[in-house]
Amino acid sequence: MQVKMGNCVLELIKGDITQQDTEAIVNAANEELVPGGGVDGAIHRAGGPSIAEEARRYGRCPTGSAVITGAGNLKAKYVIHAVGPIWRGGNHGEAELLASAYRSALNLCLEKDINSVAFPSISTGAYGYPMKEAAKVALSTVISFLKEHQKPKLVRMVLFGEEAYKTYEKVLKELAAKE
Ligand code: ADP
Repeated sequence: MQVKMGNCVLELIKGDITQQDTEAIVNAANEELVPGGGVDGAIHRAGGPSIAEEARRYGRCPTGSAVITGAGNLKAKYVIHAVGPIWRGGNHGEAELLASAYRSALNLCLEKDINSVAFPSISTGAYGYPMKEAAKVALSTVISFLKEHQKPKLVRMVLFGEEAYKTYEKVLKELAAKE
């Protein structure tokens, strides 16, 4: 599914983040920036050791923020390491921290003049964020960013599996209907 936002496109696909040919891909990283499981493990396995070596130089990346490295052997040119919150029931600032992780990654795209970026569904794996709630935050944050900046030209959400895709699709249809 795709929606046009002025000159920009917000796209949902089912797939694997490591295979994306966008200029940047986003990693669902942890504060320590050390390779973990899920998306993080897949990116470091496919991209090689240079990504972790470069990320380590940043030290720590607080929840809600993001840092950028090269992408080693991946098709993308950059990996943006964004740290989403751990779900603790929903009353611990999770939504604001998740929105902030997306905004931080998108701001790095502006700084580096990156025109296309692919995101996984941050925080919805090991960090336990409910998929539908995460989809609302992710999609509404991307939509307001694109409205404000008209950049990057392509934002692709890469959903892992049918259920995640269907959930994002439903939420995007609801949000698009309100536009
Ligand atoms: P977090 O620690 O932020 O929860 P995870 O990597 O555990 O991050 O999971 C984030 C989401 O990414 C989950 O919905 C998971 O199913 C999905 N996922 C796992 N592997 C991939 C992949 N290779 N490409 C895209 N999404 C993936």
